[in-house]
Amino acid sequence: MSHSPSQSDENQVCVIIGASHAAAQLATSLRQQGWSGPIRMIGDEGGLPYQRPPLSKAFLCGEKDADSLIIRPSAFYEKHEIEFIPGRVTAIDRVAKTLTLADGSEQHYDKLALCTGTRVIRLPIQGANLGGVHYLRTLADVEGIRRELPDSGRVVIIGGGYIGLETAASLRKQGIDVVVLEMAERVLQRVTAPEVSAFYQRMHSEAGVTIETGTMVAAFEGEERVERVVCADGRFYPADMVIVGIGVRPNSELADAAGLEIDNGIVVDEYCQTQDPDIVAAGDCANQWDPRSGQRRRLESVPNAVEQAKTAAATLCGEKIPQISLPWFWSDQYDLKLQMAGLNQGYDQVVIRGTADSGCSFAAFYFQQGQLIAADCINRAPEFMLAKKLLSQKQTADMTRLADEAIPVKQLMAELTTSS
Ligand code: FAD
Ligand code: NAP
Repeated sequence: MSHSPSQSDENQVCVIIGASHAAAQLATSLRQQGWSGPIRMIGDEGGLPYQRPPLSKAFLCGEKDADSLIIRPSAFYEKHEIEFIPGRVTAIDRVAKTLTLADGSEQHYDKLALCTGTRVIRLPIQGANLGGVHYLRTLADVEGIRRELPDSGRVVIIGGGYIGLETAASLRKQGIDVVVLEMAERVLQRVTAPEVSAFYQRMHSEAGVTIETGTMVAAFEGEERVERVVCADGRFYPADMVIVGIGVRPNSELADAAGLEIDNGIVVDEYCQTQDPDIVAAGDCANQWDPRSGQRRRLESVPNAVEQAKTAAATLCGEKIPQISLPWFWSDQYDLKLQMAGLNQGYDQVVIRGTADSGCSFAAFYFQQGQLIAADCINRAPEFMLAKKLLSQKQTADMTRLADEAIPVKQLMAELTTSS
């Protein structure tokens, strides 16, 4: 990584609100890029930034403990003089450049980074407050789920998105009966093609998970704890525990109250700058202008949080580097590694390499008017590398050759290198 001379001076204070993936990277990148003043990171989860992805995977399975989730040990923050302040910021005064915390204390800032992320959407239905109804976003959430799991014969999961499916796989691996109720006509509808949704539905069915799509939940019933989930069409499912994963909302109210522009998140330009020159935003909470597509987008992924944090740190240090990295995502379920490159919104054709309706490895390439725009690769690391390369170089690919398994990926890659 090359470091440019910093514009900061040692009296300038940078405060970061939030202490998760974006915040941890932003604080680190600030020091790497030469920020010499105090850095303060304020987080309301009580502890240092930790990795969220294992929460629905290895941590839920009991294969990892809480200590192993920490993104960087406390010694790292001490060495780089990054101060962690536990607490919740309740107000930003952009004129006085102060923050108010829930305990009434104040913090001054010269530069401010908003890394407030997202929070779960709650199901406002009858029985929502019964014992045994859980959401899954934080370490504390999963510790709560794990504490109750031994008594739970059957878990009903609401939502067949990433949370729902990863959680289903992790619980099934532990021998727990799992039912997934999804409102849409297919699982992962928001992010994948029908072929990929059908593949995941098959994989979960083979593992013994019941998935009901097109199903609207109407109520949770029980005395003190949930005992059953009732659907709008009258069907019901006995449940010892419910886990709800129906999406998230950006935490943008603080920025909104401070008069910053909000539109499905905190509006930032390609440098992660808000309309206030002293305030940046990064990660799940930021809705960023993408100069390549000419659109705004708010992504919910660790790679995006990390890349935006690097960009935001550079901006705070006075160096403007646009954030134009290729979006990518991953999801682990059973022995299936899904790797996704690009964004498939607006695709008009899908090319499958391998077979989606048998086995457990294939790749789906998404095209829009003949141009490759995204790929989903399941247990296909070489295809994922190929897709990343094609998309980064804005090259398209011959659909027939991509689909032809007789042509090795190595050869497609070599052709790409020689033609570029
Ligand atoms: P967040 O992680 O949401 O963190 C924001 C932090 O700010 C939180 O700690 C919040 O409490 C705090 N905060 C908010 N407001 C305030 C305030 N006013 N004062 C103080 N603190 C505040 N992504 C992937 O790419 N791959 C995966 O496999 C994957 N798996 C996931 C599994 C699970 C179970 C979950 C929940 C998410 C997963 N994600 C995954 C998504 C990924 O975790 C998020 O994209 C990422 O955490 C975003 O980081 P962030 O720092 O922007 O926000
Ligand atoms: P999500 O991906 O938005 O999926 C939520 C699913 O629940 C959608 O399919 C949604 O359908 C469905 N749904 C909405 N309301 C419902 C209802 N009332 N009843 C039944 N189903 C309903 O969100 P998520 O799975 O909760 O994940 C939360 C966040 O964590 C996201 O940011 C996600 O990206 C992140 N995460 C990422 C990973 C990963 O990258 N591997 C893993 C876990 C979590 P509609 O689409 O029709 O609304």
